[in-house]
Amino acid sequence: MDQDMESKRIAILGSTGSIGTQTLEIVRTNPELRVAALAAGTNVELMEAQIREFHPLTVCMWSEKAAAELALRTADMPVRIVCGMDGLLEIAAMPEADILVTAIVGMIGIRPTIEAIKAHKTIALANKETLVTAGHLIMPLAKECGVSILPVDSEHSAIFQSMQGQPRARVQKILLTASGGPFRRKTRQQLEPMTVEDALKHPNWSMGKKITIDSATLVNKGLEVMEARWLFDVELDQIEVLIHPQSILHSAVEFADGSIMGQMGLPDMKLPIQYALFYPDRKPMGGPRADLCSIAQLTFEKPDMETFEGLSMALKAAEAGGTMPTVFNAANERAVSLFLQKKIRFLQIYELIAGCMSKHRIVNNPSVNEILEAEAQTYDFIKQLTGDAQL
Ligand code: NDP
Repeated sequence: MDQDMESKRIAILGSTGSIGTQTLEIVRTNPELRVAALAAGTNVELMEAQIREFHPLTVCMWSEKAAAELALRTADMPVRIVCGMDGLLEIAAMPEADILVTAIVGMIGIRPTIEAIKAHKTIALANKETLVTAGHLIMPLAKECGVSILPVDSEHSAIFQSMQGQPRARVQKILLTASGGPFRRKTRQQLEPMTVEDALKHPNWSMGKKITIDSATLVNKGLEVMEARWLFDVELDQIEVLIHPQSILHSAVEFADGSIMGQMGLPDMKLPIQYALFYPDRKPMGGPRADLCSIAQLTFEKPDMETFEGLSMALKAAEAGGTMPTVFNAANERAVSLFLQKKIRFLQIYELIAGCMSKHRIVNNPSVNEILEAEAQTYDFIKQLTGDAQL
């Protein structure tokens, strides 16, 4: 096989973020990976540096202004600059890419993911919000188009790795691990005064701001339960969340004979990203290794669902189905953004999600438009609940 046939061409949505930049670190150390396209929101400076280093054919910036500025700054480079949703859709379907890494935050990822599946691209999926809100559309479409959706989220990658070579019909339970975040074992009263700075101090993982707050509320684990349900086609009651503060066992699968297969390693997103990019190969990777003797103890406990309502509300939303997971997710996205802007308190994140869920009338089996309508309606609920028209 010649070198060219072995090369993989990737497009990354969200290349300037935490997952996006780590994906590019992997590209740096693997010459067989080529970057066909990149997309980001507004970070023109970093995108310019990425263009100069990785030479993508096409780049999308969400805002027209950022795209215009980028075009000026890279006028000496042979790169096509596009913008907005049309730009994201163009990149998702471009013939020069084999794999789409969806490392964008939020529901904005739904339409590009659908477009990429229709264009028969392999999806390396980090953007969990897409499956949470539109899993019922995306998974059947991927099956119909013969497209693989490879998980990038560390827990889902661990589950996926644990299932390799095992009969799917013998999966009894998924053991989804969670570090418990910075506020593990705190009482509701102790959570009351927690600030943005407190919530951003994740004990084990270095991630984007939104997902770090979601880890503190356990909303992230709730979103992951929904993601796992769609990715692995299991019932909600087959997924058990375990708090595992050391973040070494990234998740596991229990089979019908009682065997538990899991994947362990240091908490480093580069491993699951690389696994998705080269699946089914397991390429060598540098860096430190998990030294089990120095780790010495792996502990597990049940999550406190009463205090950390993010998980219990997510399970309610998942059970209700239809547009309710969208409302849960959209309310959380907006509430986290308000918390990061210091406009609301930590526990108000839960209050806003609960308020939006109680106001919503579910639409079953929603289309993409109905999902986006439910999202817009949720943002209106949030405005009503916070009384702030400027939000
Ligand atoms: P970051 O906030 O670090 O990065 C988000 C990226 O998306 C940035 O490149 C940002 O561009 C881009 N972006 C935001 N809005 C738009 C838009 N409208 N159009 C185009 N690009 C946009 O997020 P993370 O990397 O932490 O997370 C990305 C996804 O991966 C999320 O769904 C998260 O849940 C999931 N995930 C993340 C993990 C992690 O370790 N970080 C682990 C597992 C899953 P800009 O920089 O210009 O704003």
